[in-house]
Amino acid sequence: MRINKSPWIYQLDRDRKYDQLKKDIDTDVVIVGAGIAGISTAFFLLKYTNKRVVLCDKNKPAHGATGHNAGQVLAGFERPLTDMVKEFGFDKVKRALHDLHSAWNLIDEMYRDAKLKILFSKVHGVVGYSNLHQVISSLNDLEIRILAGLDKDKFFISDTAPFLKLIPNNLKHLYKVLPSKDILKSLETEDNEFHAVMVDQRACMNSALFCQDILEYLLNKFSSKFSFYENTNVLKIVLNRQHAILDAGKHTIGAEKVVLCTNGFENFDIFNDGGLAIDKKFHHLVNGTVGYMSGYLEEINKDPTAIVYFTEYVDYKKSDPYFYLTRRSHELGNKKHNLICVGGSEVIINDREEYLNDFDYPDKMHKEIDDFINKVYNSNPNKKIEYEFTWHGLMGYTPNRVRLIGEEPKNPVLLYNLGCNGIGIVPSIFGGRKISRIIGGENLNDSIFDPQG
Ligand SMILES: Cc1cc2nc3c(=O)[nH]c(=O)nc-3n(C[C@H](O)[C@H](O)[C@H](O)COP(=O)(O)OP(=O)(O)OC[C@H]3O[C@@H](n4cnc5c(N)ncnc54)[C@H](O)[C@@H]3O)c2cc1C
Repeated sequence: MRINKSPWIYQLDRDRKYDQLKKDIDTDVVIVGAGIAGISTAFFLLKYTNKRVVLCDKNKPAHGATGHNAGQVLAGFERPLTDMVKEFGFDKVKRALHDLHSAWNLIDEMYRDAKLKILFSKVHGVVGYSNLHQVISSLNDLEIRILAGLDKDKFFISDTAPFLKLIPNNLKHLYKVLPSKDILKSLETEDNEFHAVMVDQRACMNSALFCQDILEYLLNKFSSKFSFYENTNVLKIVLNRQHAILDAGKHTIGAEKVVLCTNGFENFDIFNDGGLAIDKKFHHLVNGTVGYMSGYLEEINKDPTAIVYFTEYVDYKKSDPYFYLTRRSHELGNKKHNLICVGGSEVIINDREEYLNDFDYPDKMHKEIDDFINKVYNSNPNKKIEYEFTWHGLMGYTPNRVRLIGEEPKNPVLLYNLGCNGIGIVPSIFGGRKISRIIGGENLNDSIFDPQG
């Protein structure tokens, strides 16, 4: 039986204990949830406003999705941009793309201020495609990114692709044709199911370690106006027009503003004294998807990379058949290895409250990933891979697959930076900066990230 063992949590200082809430307190801003969203929000609030900030988590910091992801850093959405343009219009989508790209500078800023030493491996991300539908959808998105002024990505299609002649003429300026062997080489595979690649900007990070080190920095640098409490479960939030009281079991936290960075909305109630009811239905709209990943170690003989494989090789019905692989250096004990980790197997759950972090890791999910690695990536299929890590985490999907960042329309005492989805690192960090600007009193343009009434 496999357990939930994440390589990112493994690298944390697991003996580190933080304060727990031992009395009733008051502050200017309370942030609930100490994953990458909560910690980034705290960072930018402390840096750019003079507010006193309290951060709390029902567990330890960075032990939610932030400690159980793939660690691929990319500025993108998990939804075709063509669809998003239909829903929001080109201008708003363009602004949102630039917003997400601004997070590259925000990450640099966080590394610089906190003098972080931990790895942040910038890589060329490689996305592989196996059929015409995937290629057309991705070329259409590339065109939108180019129109939006983001033209860094490159697209190549194999000279033997069975659909080469079927690609519409209006997309021809977006790609170059290359020999099939070059396409396969860039995807590090011999599997000729793949016929096209896009190369974009990505990075690999341990987002849990990033959070741990940023938290340490904030506790030292802003000791007079910042506190963090672990094992502090917020059960109830009572809002009035100017103020909120959070019930955290034995004690309460009073604040002028509450920022929910909880990934979803389960396990607590919100009572809105000061205005219209905050619709419970809306809160249940953040759906749960459990993502599974497996990882193994190799000697360090290749550079870091981040690859996504859009494959037709799936033996179960799945709307979004892709696997994602990262390779980066990882320390186990005193030894450095390359860690290869692969995800792609997912299960949608009806009720997010059903998910428990310490559930076992089902053999079926592991087998899907192992089969994929052996078919597509493993250059030595005769050698059985020994997996050092297998882990799962909960992703939250808002109905439109866009993160919620901003004030609750029915009561601006409450703000959100949540609704993670499978690409959540960059949106969480951008969200942190945006929340600091809202609370700092700036008037911002309308955005696709704004919570709607
Ligand atoms: C398998 C998997 C792979 C992924 N791969 C990638 C990837 O490669 N790239 C990428 O960008 N994103 C990826 N993601 C998504 C990314 O990890 C998340 O979007 C991101 O970590 C979300 O951060 P968060 O802070 O919003 O949520 P979390 O990290 O889940 O933090 C929420 C915190 O809120 C706390 N909390 C909840 N309720 C309460 C309460 N009532 N009181 C107090 N505390 C509470 C929880 O304990 C938790 O610590 C992946 C996710 C998964 C699961």
